[in-house]
Amino acid sequence: GVVLAIDIGGTKLAVGVVDANGHVLSSDRAPSSLGPEDDGEAVWERLHKLCETVLAGVGRPPLVGVGVGCGGPMLWPAGEVSPLNLQAWRGFPLRKRLRTAYPGLPVRVHNDAVALAVAEHWRGAGQDVDDMLGMVVSTGVGGGLVLGGRLVDGASGNAGHVGHIVVDPDGPPCPCGGRGCVEAIARGPGLAAWARELGWRADRSEAEATAKELADDARAGDKIALSAFERAGWALGVGIASAVALCDVRRVVVGGGVSQAGPLLFEPLERTLREYAKMAYTKAAQVGPATLNQDAGLVGAAALILAGDRYWSAD
Ligand code: ADP
Ligand code: ZN
Repeated sequence: GVVLAIDIGGTKLAVGVVDANGHVLSSDRAPSSLGPEDDGEAVWERLHKLCETVLAGVGRPPLVGVGVGCGGPMLWPAGEVSPLNLQAWRGFPLRKRLRTAYPGLPVRVHNDAVALAVAEHWRGAGQDVDDMLGMVVSTGVGGGLVLGGRLVDGASGNAGHVGHIVVDPDGPPCPCGGRGCVEAIARGPGLAAWARELGWRADRSEAEATAKELADDARAGDKIALSAFERAGWALGVGIASAVALCDVRRVVVGGGVSQAGPLLFEPLERTLREYAKMAYTKAAQVGPATLNQDAGLVGAAALILAGDRYWSAD
């Protein structure tokens, strides 16, 4: 059987049909938002239409379920979503709507960072370990935790949210309302803002001074840009050292846009982790990049349905 897989972010809606091996047979995408007058129902209609188009494109195969990764926060497992960067949806009853649209099928909705972690454990860089932390370093920093080969949910579906481990009690404010979290320091826009304050690309527009340009400039030897990645790698390394001590995972897989900076980020991260992880079991933890491509969100959403109860144990 195949799964209808859905990935909902602040920028795009992605829909795919995924087979039992985790292969995306067909997929398509649409913008999450078309502007301020785009209300919740309009977003839903766009999503539903996209699902129908993708399903029709592969001849409407029989489905075994619908799996969704969606930006948080959400009421879990009820699947009432309020993605921080999709203003049109506040408490939107996504799971309920999908159940009505695709009656008789299991519908499972989880956090998008959890979906990415699950994808890497199911078919990516964590396939060979039972205990893994999957992280996404992008506009925010999120994650998911697999222990004993199973996803750990926590009381409200937010276990593994490594982005809000505090690494600097006096650090900058975090989008979560706290301060000094990993996310406050290592999120792409945070990195860029820090560098701008020191004068990096001060004369350019914000669009020309994102973490992506920062990585380009660091590669070209720009000192401020290099220190920005050094600082982000440090924050991630400290956070990961704490997470590894708490959770006893053997592998930490890091994906998301900012991770594409490669060694610029992973080198200081690894160095910092080794400085703080000194016990035999924390020393044993390996860190590496995610290996699934852009489809990871869809693969993880599908795994919520296809992997038995390994990644879904609510109802
Ligand atoms: P989203 O947060 O919507 O899931 P991404 O995973 O692409 O999107 O993350 C966006 C962040 O990643 C932005 O801050 C962007 O500047 C940064 N980014 C994207 N590509 C790169 C790159 N090659 N190197 C460093 N940072 C990058
Ligand atoms: Zn935070």
